[in-house]
Amino acid sequence: MCMPSPTVDQFIDAVKKTVLANKKWVPPHGRGSLYIRPLLMGTGRNLEVKPSSEYTFLVYASPVGNGLKGVLNLMVEDNVHRATPGGTGGIKAVTNYSPIYKPLTEAKAKGFSDLLYLDALTGSNIEECSGCNIFILKGNVISTPTTHGTILPGITRKSIMEIASDLGYQVEERAIPIKEVFDAEEVFCTGTAMIVKSVASITYQGKTIEYKLGAETLAQKLHATLTGIQTGVIEDKLGWTMVID
Ligand SMILES: *Cc1c(COP(=O)(O)O)cnc(C)c1O
Repeated sequence: MCMPSPTVDQFIDAVKKTVLANKKWVPPHGRGSLYIRPLLMGTGRNLEVKPSSEYTFLVYASPVGNGLKGVLNLMVEDNVHRATPGGTGGIKAVTNYSPIYKPLTEAKAKGFSDLLYLDALTGSNIEECSGCNIFILKGNVISTPTTHGTILPGITRKSIMEIASDLGYQVEERAIPIKEVFDAEEVFCTGTAMIVKSVASITYQGKTIEYKLGAETLAQKLHATLTGIQTGVIEDKLGWTMVID
């Protein structure tokens, strides 16, 4: 998108300053978290179709609840595509959300939590949801679609792959045909805001399949492990956390 990136140091410095300036909004332990959202936007005085002459890097934050109890009821969208090959689906661009607002609003009105999108080329493989990645569990294998430009390579996705593999699961990145989803023992989604959320059901062409939920699920175990690392309850052996004061 021809946007210059802030350096890693600038990024970390801005996040630290935002958190310290909003210290009083950090929820008490176990009651939620401070959701931090960095963004980069063009703010130049341009009229032409060309990259902006100036950019603003902004970090904002808000306290959020932990939403542990929530589960997802997904509907497979086989008409609208979230991303197409050659597009911007693989980066976190604001343009990736507006095309799905209409079908998403309609799905929510019918009681679904989110849409599950299929690949635009064949319409037969699952990709991800509107703002989260998806995993399926069968036996000792957890699988998630390969990111090759049409799927956002989420940091939670990456963290969960690492944690699951540490727990002894075989982790696979591959094409996942929609048919296979109906065969899965468990399905869950990942993203910064939700961490890991179990999928209660998936509806595709009028047919609904339900999945295992509750305390015994892998989703719960992964959620507990990642939030444990984030909150300092579990030792961070991977250097994912940073103490600030
Ligand atoms: C943000 C987002 C995710 C999750 O990414 P994280 O880095 O884990 O928060 C997945 N898919 C889409 C489309 C997203 O916008």
